[in-house]
Amino acid sequence: MAASRETGAGERRGHGEDAWGFATRAIHVGQEPDPAYGAVTTPIYQTSTFAQEGVGGHKGYEYARSGNPTRTALEQCLASLEGGAHGLAFSSGLGAESAVTYLLKSGDHMVAHDDLYGGTSRLFNRLLANFGVTVDYVDATDPANVARALRPETRLVWVETPTNPLLRVVDIAAVAAAIRAHNDSVRGVTGRGSAGVPPVPGIEGVTSGGDPREGAQNGALLVVDNTFASPYLQRPLALGADLALHSATKYLGGHSDVVLGALVARDNGLAERLRFIQNAAGAVPGPFDCWLVLRGVKTLAVRMRQHSANAGSIARYLDGHPRIARVIYPGLESHPDHALAARQMSLFGGMISAEVVGGQEDAYRVLGKTKLFTLAESLGGVESLIEHPASMTHASIPPERRRDIGISDGLIRLSVGIEDEADLRADLAQALG
Ligand code: PLP
Repeated sequence: MAASRETGAGERRGHGEDAWGFATRAIHVGQEPDPAYGAVTTPIYQTSTFAQEGVGGHKGYEYARSGNPTRTALEQCLASLEGGAHGLAFSSGLGAESAVTYLLKSGDHMVAHDDLYGGTSRLFNRLLANFGVTVDYVDATDPANVARALRPETRLVWVETPTNPLLRVVDIAAVAAAIRAHNDSVRGVTGRGSAGVPPVPGIEGVTSGGDPREGAQNGALLVVDNTFASPYLQRPLALGADLALHSATKYLGGHSDVVLGALVARDNGLAERLRFIQNAAGAVPGPFDCWLVLRGVKTLAVRMRQHSANAGSIARYLDGHPRIARVIYPGLESHPDHALAARQMSLFGGMISAEVVGGQEDAYRVLGKTKLFTLAESLGGVESLIEHPASMTHASIPPERRRDIGISDGLIRLSVGIEDEADLRADLAQALG
């Protein structure tokens, strides 16, 4: 396991903030004591507008959709945690996803992993399709499938890892390499891009310019939804992705009290276009929500260690239980992607799926009996949650398709919280009977 990434020791580079470990950056980056009165905690700038001394004479903020100091603090902190240069916060995870889709135009093509959060495929199939963007879904756990699906007009490749609820793991570095090779060959065929705009140095497939859609005009960008792992466990940008995406509603917020989304990019040109979209499309979070996520990320490192430790022992407990037919957890050696997860993630996370013997009826019985595991959608909070994907989070997927991809009627999903592990185990023991 990549233990050095846990402490941040393996990523020390440069000076000042760049040299700090993960937990230090989570607490300090973007969060210096406030210059006005020395408040140690970043203030909630609950304002929609900012006074100007003269026309155009302001202190960096004019109107709060365009920018707010509390949001800036969060964006800087998230950029640092993901190892990127630019963070952008949105009103929800899907708000962040929508902003990415504004990089596209009619006729563009996307390749997406066939095991995505249902709301993401709904965005692609029910909204984006109306604008003439086509999506091919492939099993991205084999990077060759991604490579085969790429076309000259492919502008985005979208993966999520680990996936929901089957916790399959995508090899981000291998998918990024396939995209790089494709982008090189597309450039060889079409020259410098359909708009004649030269690529931004240092990043494949990105062209510079003021049009937000130019972000993907010559080759494909890789977007990785890092919600399930969090940047503490996995950093997609370091593995070659162009954008790391979050439903910060989950582990980043960590307390089930806020809905928020985020993007982190390395490339200046891409970030500039997304910043334009953030303001022009307007799906921005309020300052209090930014503050809640800032407070959440301060404890991300300790929470993720505890989520992972608790989930590891719960997974092993369930694995030996006679009422459980199958346990899906990347930390178990029986998991098909265990070796890849051990290489790509510093710990295995807090999510477990398990198949209850007896199918839906018995699964419902277990869900009805847990006391500490609350029956609810969502995940990533300090408290443990349990749910039935086939009738809750994944009910919008047709039953045959659910069966094909392995979401059986007996499958339950656990978001293991950071309560005492013995209490969680006892709760599951009494519920399983
Ligand atoms: N991505 C993943 C992996 C999710 O699980 C979710 C929500 O459950 C989203 C994106 C969407 O995020 P939000 O609910 O914050 O809009």
